[in-house]
Amino acid sequence: MTHHPVDHELIEAAADVARTRAHGDNHTMAAAARTRDGRIVTAMNAYHFTGGPCAELVVIGAAAAQGAYDLDTMVAVGDRDRGVVPPCGRCRQVLADYFPDLKVIVTTPTGTRTLPITDLLPVTYVWSDHQLEPDGAGTAS
Ligand SMILES: [Zn+2]
Repeated sequence: MTHHPVDHELIEAAADVARTRAHGDNHTMAAAARTRDGRIVTAMNAYHFTGGPCAELVVIGAAAAQGAYDLDTMVAVGDRDRGVVPPCGRCRQVLADYFPDLKVIVTTPTGTRTLPITDLLPVTYVWSDHQLEPDGAGTAS
């Protein structure tokens, strides 16, 4: 497995947002993304019982609002000193579809690691592989 260094500046950016901007039950998780051109974009989750988005998903839109459509690395940090939190299953699927080359910082039993999104979702469903062609001649299997 390729070893990727841990982007501590990115973790600190998310931790700073989690520490200073967490608010009640609605905003409890922060995410930070390193764009392909080196910028850092941050966001918080928007909890709602109907399925309000995790911080990882909000940061995708926040990056797009800044013209950043390709993300290199992402990390999420919980409020109340919970530290780095790995992405949930839904986020893993979204991140893999949006950014197949994304790296995600997670904590593992052996410490903080930077892992490819594909390692977090093995044998994954690839949405684009299963879309039928407009003329009905699709090859989805
Ligand atoms: Zn999630």
